[in-house]
Amino acid sequence: MKYSTFLIKYAEIAVKGKNRYVFEDALMHRIRLVLKHVEGDYAVTKSQGRVYVDCLSACDEDEVIAALKRVFGINGICPVVKTDTEDFESLKEEVVKFVDDQYPDKNHTFKVFAKRARKTYPVSSMEMNCAIGEAVLEAYPSMKVDVHKPEIEIHVEVRESIFIYSKQYAGPGGMPVGTNGKAMLLLSGGIDSPVAGYMIAKRGVKIDAVYFHAPPYTSERAKQKVVDLARLVSRYTGTICLHVINFTDIQLAIYEKCPHEELTIIMRRYMMRIAERLACDNGCLGLITGESIGQVASQTVQSLAVTNEVCTLPVFRPLIGFDKLDIIALSEKIGTFETSILPYEDCCTIFVAKHPVTKPDAMIIRRSETKLADVIDELVEKAIETDEVINVI
Ligand code: ATP
Ligand code: MG
Repeated sequence: MKYSTFLIKYAEIAVKGKNRYVFEDALMHRIRLVLKHVEGDYAVTKSQGRVYVDCLSACDEDEVIAALKRVFGINGICPVVKTDTEDFESLKEEVVKFVDDQYPDKNHTFKVFAKRARKTYPVSSMEMNCAIGEAVLEAYPSMKVDVHKPEIEIHVEVRESIFIYSKQYAGPGGMPVGTNGKAMLLLSGGIDSPVAGYMIAKRGVKIDAVYFHAPPYTSERAKQKVVDLARLVSRYTGTICLHVINFTDIQLAIYEKCPHEELTIIMRRYMMRIAERLACDNGCLGLITGESIGQVASQTVQSLAVTNEVCTLPVFRPLIGFDKLDIIALSEKIGTFETSILPYEDCCTIFVAKHPVTKPDAMIIRRSETKLADVIDELVEKAIETDEVINVI
């Protein structure tokens, strides 16, 4: 028996009332997009609160499942056998055959979960549970029923067709990208920001990104690493419009005119200001960073407050309470870690002071920034003009 259909389960989005179709349509759209990268033809349809993926040609089941595991909004992926058998005796036989096919070793406990969604079907759910359970026991006497903790769940759902399935692969959860507006991710080549982008996209937010580079102090390879990271994140989020901004002159001006222990914090403030400009110009409703309290000097509560005050858009910091080890575990899970740890220089690390302020005072920082007054507006405008847009797919 070969699977040709996948039943897609989604929990959270199913409870969105009248907006439900918006979520379902976004989910189907994302599923179609990820399947474009998997060999084969697929039909993605919805019916009675369920989404189905039908393989219309030969397909590699593992690849389909791997692709679907990257679609936010999916809670479970069930390879199902679809049958048009209406006769209940034949249905029982199909289930018995299904069990044999799926579990050659018959030493398992099981439970039947029948669901009669189509009420015109002549056998009730309860009757189906009993009769199918009996048929399985009769065919395979070494199997046992366990209604509390069965090793195998045998699902039989009577809908427009009848579906038999027992395996469920976990999806990523969350909500389909595109159902919750768009935000601008400050994407560096580090470990944290790709994870931050993943987490916000998981809540249905479409992602644009901005990377500040500082040639010749940072190399083409460092930039390529960020493009590669954006590509890895885009496997979950869909296309990312990545803005690359030349930040060198701003950085040099700060280096020349401001106290060195304040370099990082002032630099971070200019990154946020420019990111906000790009966000507003591109319809983004918030900024996203990979900051986490106390991780480095520029991420103490005081530093975060001083960085934050230059923005009016909300700044989403999904990693704010995470330990580095938790972030690393997540980056390994989503597949960005290996790329993040490649040793290319970052513009933040080149201009760092030996003893950066850890408790900056906003008044003092603002005063230091006035030393840039006669050049900074022009430098910011020029930096924005360098915007190189890369559509990362
Ligand atoms: P990451 O691992 O994400 O680089 P980090 O621990 O190195 O984080 P910082 O360098 O202080 O921390 O940066 C904090 C956040 O600022 C990053 O998570 C990212 O969102 C943003 N950021 C830092 N450098 C850049 C850059 N060159 N371009 C774009 N965003 C940046
Ligand atoms: Mg960094």
